[in-house]
Amino acid sequence: MTTIAFIGLGNMGGPMAANLVKAGHDVRGFDLVAALRDGAAADGVQIAASGTEAVKGADAIITMLPAGKHVRAVWAEIVPHAKSGAVIVDSSTIDVDSARAAHALAAERGLKSLDAPVSGGTGGAKAGTLTFMCGGADDAFAAAKPILEKMGKRIVHCGGAGAGQAAKICNNMILGATMIVTCEAFALAEKLGLSHQALFDVASTSSGQSWSITTYCPVPGPVPASPANNSYKPGFAAALMLKDLKLAQEAAQSAGAQTPLGAHAAELYEQYNSAGNENADFSGIINYLRSQKASR
Ligand code: NAD
Repeated sequence: MTTIAFIGLGNMGGPMAANLVKAGHDVRGFDLVAALRDGAAADGVQIAASGTEAVKGADAIITMLPAGKHVRAVWAEIVPHAKSGAVIVDSSTIDVDSARAAHALAAERGLKSLDAPVSGGTGGAKAGTLTFMCGGADDAFAAAKPILEKMGKRIVHCGGAGAGQAAKICNNMILGATMIVTCEAFALAEKLGLSHQALFDVASTSSGQSWSITTYCPVPGPVPASPANNSYKPGFAAALMLKDLKLAQEAAQSAGAQTPLGAHAAELYEQYNSAGNENADFSGIINYLRSQKASR
């Protein structure tokens, strides 16, 4: 069985590493936080003394870290110690420029590399049903795919270096903007005397349809499993949505793309987060929108 090094055993990385152990892999893990190392050890991960120790001799390396600066620093540390011919995969959600810089580091050492951010959240990480959006060369994708399949249900090759991160932030920019306008529509319907269920019945099967209404309806009732039925507990926390919208704006600026609605969605989520809602579900922005006074 393939030996896999796993760096970053947090909310996502912990259960992902545990699924690799369950699949029969020899997994060597490392995190800066002792309690997370202990938790992973209880799941059968062999704990290494450092990231560098974890990657020595490993056939595959996976990193699951908070942001681009962590990925750049960790890859700079571990890549020189990786086995020749190994595949290295970063599944964190990070800026496209950092992802491309990480690929360049791996290429200097002759490693196969992939940016492979995920969607599906902590529930998907535990259940092994994540979607991986992959960017990198064909040989890197071919080497990593059987491993990613142990942690996910859909493994999509989006293109070359950085294409996985690009797909992730474009998708989440659509999600942020459609969630806001879906919330606005329900708030408007309330003022117009239209019931939540009536708007849902029409819009969920008409041209206003999107994942934000059919799967994640931001008002209680029509979709029983949505966080609106559970006091807007995440789900997908507003802080993570803001992170992704900011990454989309950075990418748009760097690439010279016009994204006015994406920019406005980022501003609204900034306000929603600043009002003390970082840990609430992102669909709870409906309460923030309702609380704003009409400006015209
Ligand atoms: P997390 O903060 O729980 O985990 C990150 C871990 O990286 C932490 O435990 C931290 O100690 C560790 N770390 C940081 N620097 C390190 C280093 N030098 N060496 C070893 N370990 C180090 O975050 P998370 O929720 O697991 O998310 C990880 C990534 O996945 C983020 O980029 C996030 O945006 C993305 N993501 C999260 C979710 C979600 O629902 N939580 C969903 C999709 C994508």
